[in-house]
Amino acid sequence: MRAAVLREHGEPLDVTDVPEPELDSDGVVVDVEACGICRSDWHAWMGHGEWADDAVEPGQILGHEPAGRVVAVGERVETIREGDRVALPFNLACGSCGYCRIGHGNVCTGDHPHALGFEQTAQGAFAEQVHLPSAEYNAIRLPDGVASRDVAALGCRFMTAYNALDARAGLRAGEWVAVHGCGGVGLSAIQVANALGARVVAVDVRESALDVAAELGADELVDASAEDPVAAIRGVTDGGADVSVDALGVAETCRNSVRCVRPRGTHVQVGLTTDAERGEVSLPTDWMTRHEVSFVGARGMPPTSASDLLSLLESDAVDPGSLVTKTVSLDEVPERLAAMTDYDTVGVEVMTM
Ligand SMILES: [Zn+2]
Ligand SMILES: [Zn+2]
Repeated sequence: MRAAVLREHGEPLDVTDVPEPELDSDGVVVDVEACGICRSDWHAWMGHGEWADDAVEPGQILGHEPAGRVVAVGERVETIREGDRVALPFNLACGSCGYCRIGHGNVCTGDHPHALGFEQTAQGAFAEQVHLPSAEYNAIRLPDGVASRDVAALGCRFMTAYNALDARAGLRAGEWVAVHGCGGVGLSAIQVANALGARVVAVDVRESALDVAAELGADELVDASAEDPVAAIRGVTDGGADVSVDALGVAETCRNSVRCVRPRGTHVQVGLTTDAERGEVSLPTDWMTRHEVSFVGARGMPPTSASDLLSLLESDAVDPGSLVTKTVSLDEVPERLAAMTDYDTVGVEVMTM
């Protein structure tokens, strides 16, 4: 089959023939119909993450936001059949460790691949086929009539945004959310916040991104290239956001996000840092202590929460398809990944087969 393979960090992915995935007894093989292209792919491609022992090795097939049709089923899998349509979560779980058993499969500690498309034992979906291990726990069954392209646009960004705002920050209707960075995950957070009944301040330095944020329902826009975003957010929210998300992962957006919350507010870190921060950002800890500010992390979403997110999708409360600004072929993936280096992408781009 054809796939886009990482040969060397920062060098164009190699679209080439590779062996088809091998089927585990508890896994399924899926014909990829669509797969989102994500900033996490870009981080992996650039070789970021070594500071967290998380760098992706050459030989990796990237692509962690796929949806498609099951074409082969392992002998121990009982609830999934050939022909079923599924989405694959990027945060793979073993299904049997202590965290998986209580519904937190996104922080699974089992002896098992944990990140689809980022580990050699979990090759990704910029390919004609992809393998999903522990499929009964991990597979997200798709309702009829939901397009693979839209589900691929859900990607890790909607899953992460939903988990971040709902489960991690405990966002409630009527509260103010600040979203720093209106790329894929930031725009997803805006839609999720709206669906949860919150009010949104969107922050970016790009007018084009703020335009999209406004279309998706952001109540207030802050151009951080023109004004101090912390002061601006405190102004429009009358004292600070209840919840703030750093959807980018650079030191400045992280600190701005922490500083813009009201007393007892919550900052959620979603963006992973670049090689400028190497995973370390200094924070105003005395101020955070004084105002009882919470700092929480969010990574993906437990696969067991997928039905909540899919019901938002089915009720049209969120519309990930509206974030898709471009669909590309497998051959175009290397170039679109490279375009992210200069932040030359807006919204979500999806590979379709
Ligand atoms: Zn587990
Ligand atoms: Zn992603």
